[in-house]
Amino acid sequence: MKAKDDAVTGLTKGIEILFKQNKVDYFKGTGSFVNENEIEVEPLDGSEKVNLKAKNIIIATGSEPTPFPGIEVDEKKIVTSTGILSLTEVPKKLAIIGGGIIGLEMASVWSRLGSDVTVIEFLNNIGGAGIDGELAKLAQKTLKKQGINFKLGTKVLSGKVEGENVKIEVENAKNGKKEELDADVLLVAIGRRPYTEGLKIENVGVDMDQRGRVVIDQEYRTKYPHIRVIGDATFGPMLAHKAEEEGIAAVEYIKNGHGHVNYGAIPSVMYTHPEFAWVGQTEEQIKEAGIKYNVGKFPFLANSRAKTNLDTEGIVKIIADKETDRVLGVHIAGPNAGEMIAEAVLAIEYGASSEDIARTCHAHPTLSEAFKEAAMATYDKAIHF
Ligand code: NAD
Repeated sequence: MKAKDDAVTGLTKGIEILFKQNKVDYFKGTGSFVNENEIEVEPLDGSEKVNLKAKNIIIATGSEPTPFPGIEVDEKKIVTSTGILSLTEVPKKLAIIGGGIIGLEMASVWSRLGSDVTVIEFLNNIGGAGIDGELAKLAQKTLKKQGINFKLGTKVLSGKVEGENVKIEVENAKNGKKEELDADVLLVAIGRRPYTEGLKIENVGVDMDQRGRVVIDQEYRTKYPHIRVIGDATFGPMLAHKAEEEGIAAVEYIKNGHGHVNYGAIPSVMYTHPEFAWVGQTEEQIKEAGIKYNVGKFPFLANSRAKTNLDTEGIVKIIADKETDRVLGVHIAGPNAGEMIAEAVLAIEYGASSEDIARTCHAHPTLSEAFKEAAMATYDKAIHF
């Protein structure tokens, strides 16, 4: 926890220094709209309110955990992703509602620290939206082997603190069988929703959709062209790196009139152990679009570096267009998948074919050779498997 706190403090303080260096004024407080050109800031330190006038405004207020109706979060026994990262001791038994990215990452972390973890998921598969079906199955198999329990196709009826315990009532979605589970800590990770509370956007009347997202056009503009919204507060995957790209693009639109984010080349990484990472389309999406494709796979079991690291779980899977060989999707499960995916993002960004990758020299012995070999297997066959 101390290492985590040090890292977070170091990184956020670093941003403050960068603000200073780049002459960005930083007001620490809650901002709210007075009108479409004026923001009122209520400083955190209780000092006088400040009113700021702006020619352009970018809303980047992010998201907050979606509450579970009837389950009261105290961030001690019943926690969100915030509380689970500040526990003072390792819970003996940890129950998690939601087998999406947050649920699985936290299941992986606390299970490695010694918790007996049970993940309760409404759907029959884990990994959240956007994960390739084969990778989702692999994730379940791998995490199960590590001792994480899964209750899939299971509905949570209630969850409450009783003394030192949390009691969770669940129901099998298929046969209606009810069961009571108990845990020391319950994590609610059923998704996130845009965070715009307190912004008083009703004062300016921008349009919101049913899910609380501010409606924008392709240049991130609300109905007021000078008020833009980026990141989790609006559409698309809730990922920090996606928000960062949008922030830059929004400023470029303001300054130059044009900006750019390639939504087809945004990587996703699930920081479990092993990691799961992907970019582009899943096999299911490609199939549904009626595109003819080839798949190439290479297991880390046959990779020299994975072998010497005694960390051989996982595969690289590449999907390419059958006719043009253009890479459509890359899905990696395995050691360092989160780092390895960068090469795949670049391949997709540059419109590479699988043969382009296969004909690119990769250092030996490295994990990245598995990527090259999977590319070979996409249009022909791998050498070392
Ligand atoms: P998620 O949407 O990834 O997963 C939520 C899961 O909860 C889904 O599988 C859903 O079927 C399940 N669920 C929903 N309601 C349920 C219910 N009543 N009972 C049981 N299961 C239920 O959401 P998340 O894991 O909370 O993450 C939120 C967002 O934050 C996501 O967009 C995620 O991509 C992002 N995030 C990403 C990272 C990362 O990229 N490493 C890390 C943290 C968060």
